[in-house]
Amino acid sequence: MKRITSKTLICAGLCGIVLLQACNQKTAKSYEAADPLVKNIDTTVRPSDDFFNYANGGWIKKNPIPAAYSGWGIGSEVQEELRLRLRKINEDALKEKAEQGSNSQKIGDFYYTAMDSAKAERESLAPLKAELQRIDAINDINSLLNAFAHFNTIGVTTPVGPYVGQDDKNSEKMMLQLYQTGIGMPNRDYYFNTDEQSVKVRNDYRQNHLPALFILAGLSKAEAVKAADKVYAMEKFLADSSRKLVDLRDPYANYNKMTVDALAKLAPGLNWKSLFENMHYKNVDTVIVGQPEYYRAVNKAIQSYSPDDWKLYLRKNLISEYSPYLSQALVDENFRFYGKVMSGRTEQLPRWKRALDAENSLMGEVLGQLFVKEYFPAKTKQRYVSMVNAVRESFKDRIKNLDWMSEQTKLKAYQKLDKINPKVGYPDKWKDFSQLDIKRDSYALNILRGNIFHHKRNADKLGKPVDRSEWGMTPQTYNAYYNPSNNEIVLPAAQLMIPGVKDEDLDDAVVYGYAAASTIGHEITHGFDDTGRQYDAQGNLKAWWTPQDSARFTQKAQMLVDQFNKYKVHGLAINGKATLGENIADLGGIVIGLDAFKKTEQYKKGEKINGFTPLQRFFLGYSLGWLGHYRKETLINRVLTDEHSPGFLRVNGPFSDVPEFYEAFNIKKGDKMWIDPDKRVQIW
Ligand SMILES: [Zn+2]
Repeated sequence: MKRITSKTLICAGLCGIVLLQACNQKTAKSYEAADPLVKNIDTTVRPSDDFFNYANGGWIKKNPIPAAYSGWGIGSEVQEELRLRLRKINEDALKEKAEQGSNSQKIGDFYYTAMDSAKAERESLAPLKAELQRIDAINDINSLLNAFAHFNTIGVTTPVGPYVGQDDKNSEKMMLQLYQTGIGMPNRDYYFNTDEQSVKVRNDYRQNHLPALFILAGLSKAEAVKAADKVYAMEKFLADSSRKLVDLRDPYANYNKMTVDALAKLAPGLNWKSLFENMHYKNVDTVIVGQPEYYRAVNKAIQSYSPDDWKLYLRKNLISEYSPYLSQALVDENFRFYGKVMSGRTEQLPRWKRALDAENSLMGEVLGQLFVKEYFPAKTKQRYVSMVNAVRESFKDRIKNLDWMSEQTKLKAYQKLDKINPKVGYPDKWKDFSQLDIKRDSYALNILRGNIFHHKRNADKLGKPVDRSEWGMTPQTYNAYYNPSNNEIVLPAAQLMIPGVKDEDLDDAVVYGYAAASTIGHEITHGFDDTGRQYDAQGNLKAWWTPQDSARFTQKAQMLVDQFNKYKVHGLAINGKATLGENIADLGGIVIGLDAFKKTEQYKKGEKINGFTPLQRFFLGYSLGWLGHYRKETLINRVLTDEHSPGFLRVNGPFSDVPEFYEAFNIKKGDKMWIDPDKRVQIW
């Protein structure tokens, strides 16, 4: 569940009369001032026509997207506040005489090089000298493959994309996996789609961005244009054999376990054994290949393009991927294409914010430890651990009452549900960064060593027991996930916070809508969505549904596909099939979160707060989770590349299926939120 971030919960002109009073009379009822709902409402929109904009439109009008961002929403305040704190921590670490190898030394030295723009300017491409020489030395397929191996270890894209992860069919085992990769735009559609935005991005990539990178790498204009055309053709060839977003959803179709010998038959030109050894993957005899046809195409590409062509391809990837850490001209070109053309941003983030973001992705858990100490007390953690159990219970009751699922499948479903492991707030065990080498020599080299550290950390997992305590997100991430192999939900602390309001000041209706429905329930039902349901309680890809129950589920899911296929964003239709898993999770999260809420005192008492019933506040609280907006370019990019529907449809879509929503806001036939009862989807 990905979403954007945001800010500003100060009571302003758009809040209703009740709230304005609260603002002026702080002593009367301080709770009203802290109410995170009322101030966001746009009273000019009818809830029965567009609930998302009713609930959030007031805030959106008051909070335009700042020039440096591609979107602006609820998580931004958490992130912005966090950045300010982290800056202080970084600046303190800079001054400190920290012990060599300590986290403080790493933070301080990383920040020192990241902020030294003069040095980055002076050095230009010098930090990449050894890497560029490595490319220059390529003269045959063997040296090319060696270079692929090396560049994989330093985080540079090559046509080969290996990583170590759990075996889908045996979650106790770590396996080497190969996935499609190798292209410079977000996915294959950008190379082929004919909609206006895709064409614009593609043309810019080929005619402006790629030549600009080559010119910055020292080529003449004529050479750069030629090189750009060549590299574009190579990427297009790889994109042509890459699967579409929707085709990546079937876990069986994307699971092709084979011996390295069989892989060598599939793609004989790659000398896999030495390739894997050079990438530090030890004793590999079996691999899981996600998309075999892609690797057949890579094999063909290696034969059909010359080593000189590949040198251009690698030079471009190296420079492109390290450009945010090099001279201003490279930083600017990277931003011009990925920030402006692709996302619609008009300004870059200030250097210190970019530095902290880079630090966050390199050693996020070091910073996360400091974050949770301040922001996520044990009491808060306990509230959400209990809530996970309440939501789990509600889901169990829902399953019990299903008329379309057999007893046999239900028993297995209870087992899976019982076994879901909730990780709440932050990891019990923090990652060890002692082997990460950070110095004061160069920003780009710190990133390079960081990439090596992470590659090695991942490669070392091969042949070792699965570490189920590990987190795939930092606690300061405004996001959450379900991992089918571990049958776990992971709920980072930042995701559970409503900026500007203390957790203890929030009424249950808000918290059940915001956290129990939109996050906890959502993640739990992912275990039972079109993909998740194919994994069993132990996290193994294994059919545990009766064929009849599977067929009934698929029929219900198809109704949701049909519902979402009808929605459009900037003229682009939502892909109901590609977003199905998320849409199922949204709808499921709402109904089980609501069931859990119905058991609370607040719901039973039914007293209004700030003019809203508990049920109304629940739906508003859920919508608060999607408070925010995106630039047009970014929204289109997301429709093409993201398995999630845009935020407004994550509210309006599922709400139109929920009977209590009709009741709470008196939705009538003819209203835009209305769906005829026989078309409303109910899965759980
Ligand atoms: Zn999700």
